[in-house]
Amino acid sequence: MATKEALPGEADVVIVGGGIVGCAAAYYLAKRGASAVLIEKDEIGRAQSGRNWGFIRQQGRHPLELPLMIESNRIWSGLERELGADVEWVQGGNLALATVPDRMALFEAWCKTAREHGLDTNVLTPAELTQLIPDLHGEWLGGMYTQSDGHAEPRKATQAFACAAAAHGVRIVERCTVESIGTTNGAVSEVATDRGTIRTRMAIAAAGAWTARLAKPLGLSLPVRWVRSTVARTTPLRKVTDVGVWAPSVAFRQRRDGTLNLGGGGWADHDVTLDSLRHARLFMPNYLKNRSLFQFHVGSPLFADAIARLPGSYGRRHPFAAKWALEPAPNPSKVKWTFDEFRRLFPTVGDMRITETWAGYIDATPDAIPVIGPVDRPRGFVFATGFSGHGFGLGPIAGRLAAELAADGKTSLDIRGFRFSRFAEGAIGEPRSVL
Ligand SMILES: Cc1cc2nc3c(=O)[nH]c(=O)nc-3n(C[C@H](O)[C@H](O)[C@H](O)COP(=O)(O)OP(=O)(O)OC[C@H]3O[C@@H](n4cnc5c(N)ncnc54)[C@H](O)[C@@H]3O)c2cc1C
Repeated sequence: MATKEALPGEADVVIVGGGIVGCAAAYYLAKRGASAVLIEKDEIGRAQSGRNWGFIRQQGRHPLELPLMIESNRIWSGLERELGADVEWVQGGNLALATVPDRMALFEAWCKTAREHGLDTNVLTPAELTQLIPDLHGEWLGGMYTQSDGHAEPRKATQAFACAAAAHGVRIVERCTVESIGTTNGAVSEVATDRGTIRTRMAIAAAGAWTARLAKPLGLSLPVRWVRSTVARTTPLRKVTDVGVWAPSVAFRQRRDGTLNLGGGGWADHDVTLDSLRHARLFMPNYLKNRSLFQFHVGSPLFADAIARLPGSYGRRHPFAAKWALEPAPNPSKVKWTFDEFRRLFPTVGDMRITETWAGYIDATPDAIPVIGPVDRPRGFVFATGFSGHGFGLGPIAGRLAAELAADGKTSLDIRGFRFSRFAEGAIGEPRSVL
């Protein structure tokens, strides 16, 4: 898909970022007949969109996301047919497990909200858990299950959107970095890359964890924290379950080839950089509430970041080039912990070992919901970012909404709750995820 041809001199829309959100936006723009160019600084789907667990779930997040989750799930159900590609979609449901009454109470409350939206989410008893996943051991109080949820293979899905977009006429340009967005009279007028400049009136900022750096020179201060999350893959096992499972200590899904993707429940690592204290006031309430889930690391990212800020340094001139961020280090103690926990919960599934581990940087906002929508100034600048660990499932609908905004200036779903201005208005609530 990569092209070394000269960039087009102009386009209706330039999309920054070839993750699932940017690629889906490109596909939906092409279907609407817009001329679009997608610029990716690395390879399609090599950042978060190719590294995540692959859960596509409509449960346990902020209720504001529910209409988007439901529509995205509908798209996922028909996506392989629509894109003509195998994305390993499995509609096996998603299950969250509880060992303590507080968590069960959250499940009960969430189920009520979900049912108001017509979702098939239910609280399960221990007996029903055994029926659903006979191999599951452990002392469970119960679970929360949404049968229509599913999972898919992250990189395949992202690339499928990119290929379909290219087939419909979008120029997908890999290994090209957007350096800045130019404006004239308060409106987007060009996108400058390291391979040339594209004239445009519309830029979609789908640059994942990098979006804040893209927006800052425009006077848009986007609060995000980079959170490092570790994943491990195992040798193939006999069929255990099609359900995506989220236990307090380990989350997993079984892929079609029998291998498992294991992730670490709710915890995350934060690599301290000079940005770690930015927007501290906004992040503090969430941090204080969940401090046991975070581990802070002072290491090479901080030193690399400090050097990159020095006047005249390469990093200062090229803020998107930070090499340390391309291949984040997986946390070995978390790999061991999740593996041991899986073995504890599934002692009868036979021999297994870890074959591969990796990590990815999640872009988390203070209220753990995304930023989707235009800004007042510059006109023509649309955010589609900050998915806070849920952007794979939401990717198709987020891309479609960004495409609708760029092409029509309005959206088919209400996105006011995701507006960028909520941070300045002080209109952010607590993160409301149940998991
Ligand atoms: C370990 C892990 C597990 C996760 N599990 C799940 C899950 O189970 N379910 C779920 O729904 N979500 C999950 N997520 C979150 C999900 O992966 C993300 O929310 C989603 O992939 C975000 O997609 P995106 O397109 O916004 O960003 P990204 O996939 O990060 O893509 C952004 C792209 O922009 C490019 N870019 C940045 N700056 C520039 C520039 N200046 N010029 C050109 N290109 C640029 C980057 O190279 C990158 O490819 C997980 C994330 C991680 C890391």
